[in-house]
Amino acid sequence: MTLPRVGVGVDVHPVEAGRPCWLAGLEWPGVDGCTGHSDGDVVAHALTDAVLSAAGLGDIGGLLGTDDPRWAGARGAAVLAHVREVLEEAGWRVGNAAVQLVGTTPKVGPRRAEAERVLGEALGAPVSVTATTTDGLGLTGRGEGRAAVATALVVRTTSVDSPPG
Ligand code: MG
Repeated sequence: MTLPRVGVGVDVHPVEAGRPCWLAGLEWPGVDGCTGHSDGDVVAHALTDAVLSAAGLGDIGGLLGTDDPRWAGARGAAVLAHVREVLEEAGWRVGNAAVQLVGTTPKVGPRRAEAERVLGEALGAPVSVTATTTDGLGLTGRGEGRAAVATALVVRTTSVDSPPG
């Protein structure tokens, strides 16, 4: 049998005053969003990289390109749904994934269940969403940017290495 595989992903984007905030697959009214070629959703992008990493399928830059007009402004959940398709075509599925936001805003706790549902539906697997701060240190502590770190477990859906019969 093929053992499950883990992967890791990190993403960082600058915060831009007045830009709509899309994070963890949700819109956050009244919160400044992040700049980026797509919607700047560091949580969804870190998850995407973790899933690709686990399956040995490269990274988000290789999957989407950094300037492909098809992904301009793309929602994080749409990116995750796309990576799920790529994963399934390659004979993998996500077992589960976890992601942690590093930043001062937004406050994730009150909408954690909502975020976990949206991200989990996109990936077809349970997703845990947590958040932390850096006690005022660095670009995330000063509110200049947001970061996220994620891990994912993927399992084989095709028995590629099973003996025949
Ligand atoms: Mg990104």
